[in-house]
Amino acid sequence: MTTIKASCPTCGEVALTPGEVSLMVCSHAPLSYYSFACPTCRSEVRKPADDHIVSLLVSGGISPQVWALPGEALEPKEGPRLSYDDLLDFALQLGTTDLLACAAGASVRS
Ligand SMILES: [Zn+2]
Repeated sequence: MTTIKASCPTCGEVALTPGEVSLMVCSHAPLSYYSFACPTCRSEVRKPADDHIVSLLVSGGISPQVWALPGEALEPKEGPRLSYDDLLDFALQLGTTDLLACAAGASVRS
């Protein structure tokens, strides 16, 4: 059986079988990654996978799973960044209104 050597940030080099490694190939290549549960510390390790790493892992017997990045994730964003206070206000409002979608629409139109 093929042994795949990878590195855990805590334990260093570890040996894995193809079944212990997940390869996620994204339609937006820079977001492709592979992941595994470290056999020593059990931490979930996730690392970027460029074309070279994808080729190596596939040749090692790992079946890639393909996922598509939603188009809106790459759209340029305008307006102010969401602040911590905005998020806190939103969370507080979730607890006080049953008509949040209506309230959100009202603030966009005003
Ligand atoms: Zn580890």
